[in-house]
Amino acid sequence: MSATRILLLGAPGAGKGTQAAMLIERLGIPHISTGDMLRQAVADGTEVGKKAKAVMDSGQLVSDEIVIAIAEERLSQPDAEKGFLLDGFPRTLPQAEALSALLDKLGTPLEACVALTVDTEAVVQRLLKRAEIEGRADDNEETIRERMSVYEEQTAPLLPFYEKAGVLKYVDGMGEVDEIAKRVEDALA
Ligand code: AMP
Repeated sequence: MSATRILLLGAPGAGKGTQAAMLIERLGIPHISTGDMLRQAVADGTEVGKKAKAVMDSGQLVSDEIVIAIAEERLSQPDAEKGFLLDGFPRTLPQAEALSALLDKLGTPLEACVALTVDTEAVVQRLLKRAEIEGRADDNEETIRERMSVYEEQTAPLLPFYEKAGVLKYVDGMGEVDEIAKRVEDALA
């Protein structure tokens, strides 16, 4: 049986969103994206949205305190009992530790961390294309480079963290969407 408590990890533009959409459909689990939730908060003009907007536009990370609170709230909802796909959270070690503590408390530990590996320059090009299509304020070249270095410095250390936890699975994120989806499926089998 496939894992149902899954974290998708990868550099910005590694294709997490695309693979997430396919996985949640196949597994019937909720997609939990802190990026989507933060964008919604910005659009709604909430207190969190007001605090997060400038940080997001600059390519930096929103504070651990804010995102941990958002993620905990979401993971505690009843639909997450059947499993979940985390996308874009955790992004720092303190977030990963908070997530582990929460899931331990709920008795539902993470079963798999799928790390999509990609070629950085190819990713930058993919992000620039997405910026054109979606018009995201955080997708200009300077911000993209900033988000890449934030990923390297703050998020890449999660790889050894999940390796140690025995749930890390590397998946080659280069190639056709369907091919990558098949690799993800195999990694979760
Ligand atoms: P994403 O759509 O996941 O790339 O997220 C867009 C932006 O939201 C990021 O560049 C961050 O500014 C912010 N964000 C999303 N998730 C997190 C997180 N787990 N920790 C800190 N900031 C986050």
